[in-house]
Amino acid sequence: MRIAVIGAGIIGVTTAYELAADGHAVTVFERRSSVAEETSFANAGVIAPGYVTPWAAPGMPAKVLRHLMSRHAPVRLARPLARGQLRWMWRWWRACTNASFQANRERMHRLARFSQQRLATLAHDLHLDYEQSNGYMVLLRTPKDLALARGSLKLLAELGVSFHLIDATKARTLEPGLNPQTPLHAAVHLPADQVGNCRQFAHLLRAEAQRLGADFRFQREVVALRGGSAPTVQHRALDGDRAPSEDRFDAIVVCAAMGAPALLRPLGLKLPLVAVHGYSITAPLRSIDGHPLPGPRSAVMDEHFKVAISRLGQRVRVAGSAELGGRLDQHSTAAVQTLYKLLDDWFPGCAQLSQVQAWKGARPMLPDGPPVLGRSGIDGVWLNLGHGSSGWALSCGSARALADLLNGRAAPIDLDGLGIERLKH
Ligand SMILES: Cc1cc2nc3c(=O)[nH]c(=O)nc-3n(C[C@H](O)[C@H](O)[C@H](O)COP(=O)(O)OP(=O)(O)OC[C@H]3O[C@@H](n4cnc5c(N)ncnc54)[C@H](O)[C@@H]3O)c2cc1C
Repeated sequence: MRIAVIGAGIIGVTTAYELAADGHAVTVFERRSSVAEETSFANAGVIAPGYVTPWAAPGMPAKVLRHLMSRHAPVRLARPLARGQLRWMWRWWRACTNASFQANRERMHRLARFSQQRLATLAHDLHLDYEQSNGYMVLLRTPKDLALARGSLKLLAELGVSFHLIDATKARTLEPGLNPQTPLHAAVHLPADQVGNCRQFAHLLRAEAQRLGADFRFQREVVALRGGSAPTVQHRALDGDRAPSEDRFDAIVVCAAMGAPALLRPLGLKLPLVAVHGYSITAPLRSIDGHPLPGPRSAVMDEHFKVAISRLGQRVRVAGSAELGGRLDQHSTAAVQTLYKLLDDWFPGCAQLSQVQAWKGARPMLPDGPPVLGRSGIDGVWLNLGHGSSGWALSCGSARALADLLNGRAAPIDLDGLGIERLKH
């Protein structure tokens, strides 16, 4: 089949690879000049299926309200909020019931576990080096943090996730760079999880997809789609003659994240997708005589501040914050300061802060949590989008499952509850 993939973030690249590996003629349309230039650019890189959970959870609305008052809040509202964002908040609030949370958590976990396996297979078979390190640790500063985490630990156990609740001494042995001055009560260690450079992986997999014949068309903005018996992509070059041109395909897969609603609305599909912004800072590790000063060995997450600190090769990245509303090009000084604070709390002096790259990204978030995978309800148009805060962790599995559905084969996992139907009410 001739298949168009719209968007070359981590979701579009993994989808293009799987479809090309199945023997399809794949064309990828991307408005940026390379892959992973938007939300997949500088995320925390954590792949921890046990922590892939919906933000729509019981008790969350009250937690969010409490956070709004604090200086280093993990959640922020940037005013004014648009009407679509208020509608989204209403749907999110309604999904915060226990029943909805349990169902969506199980769906996301199922996909995340499969995705982790698929990533391992691809990395092994294709010899991909994406600055990965093994292990993930959730830091609990106080007995209160531990008490609050008990509920998640129970759920981890129910899902069969391998984890150890460890004391501070053991945590400091696993991550010897942790600042001894910062109080630490306990930690949750997940040895089977990992951190890796999402953007680098996207570049490596793009090269593999190209080897299989996939055609990546950069600086090409898709301006309209048509479904039906001859699915059509209307696109225009951003680097030359901007006159639109059209290409026909046998199928179109929309992996355009925050660009998707504008393409699907004219076809009658209204996606309740909003951007939940987050920030990261990345800096090279300092070294003395060529030896880096101790930063993280892998990734840690400060549970109180919801900030991740990750090692990516010879760099450290600190990522966090959830900001609803606001603009991608306007950085909140307070949110970025929280990232510096957390780096200084846990790994002081390890990074060359004169060379920091600060970044803001837009998590493509659906109100109930899971992404949408599969048919759109419009003939010839398929969806792989809305991966929210876990798109890297979910990418390889989502792509493989989508490719199987498109081939008319049974998907490798149960996809119940991951389709568009659940959002059409
Ligand atoms: C601070 C932060 C930390 C995060 N940490 C993690 C983490 O630790 N683990 C994890 O799993 N996830 C994490 N995430 C989430 C993850 O980064 C996203 O879920 C993922 O990158 C989404 O990938 P995507 O391909 O759907 O979107 P994108 O990477 O945004 O890709 C979409 C692409 O579509 C293109 N596009 C859109 N419209 C059009 C159009 N009309 N024509 C042509 N091209 C178009 C865009 O240019 C873009 O390249 C984090 C996110 C943030 C912000």
